[in-house]
Amino acid sequence: MKAYHVHDKENSGEEACHEIVFAESPAQAKYKSEAYSNGVPWTDIAAVRKPQFDQYAETGIIPRSAYIADGWYFECDQCGSFSATNEVNGQVICEFCLEDQSA
Ligand SMILES: [Zn+2]
Repeated sequence: MKAYHVHDKENSGEEACHEIVFAESPAQAKYKSEAYSNGVPWTDIAAVRKPQFDQYAETGIIPRSAYIADGWYFECDQCGSFSATNEVNGQVICEFCLEDQSA
């Protein structure tokens, strides 16, 4: 299986439903996606190949560090803001908390 980054490219729903989906084709990735099951119109869903995630296809478990390396954001484990891009000791934290920690 191959990894695809699937999201609602028109951002028509409440969320863009960004996720990595493992599938055999872009169409299958869209079919399996959260966006599709949330009722996003088929033509509004984008599926972009992400070969760097292929290595996680077998387990389906993608470490947060791999997402961060690809430019994704997480909810900060410390303050909850949705801008965490630093992994420190198994936590993902935002710039603000990172600075706080090293101060
Ligand atoms: Zn934070």
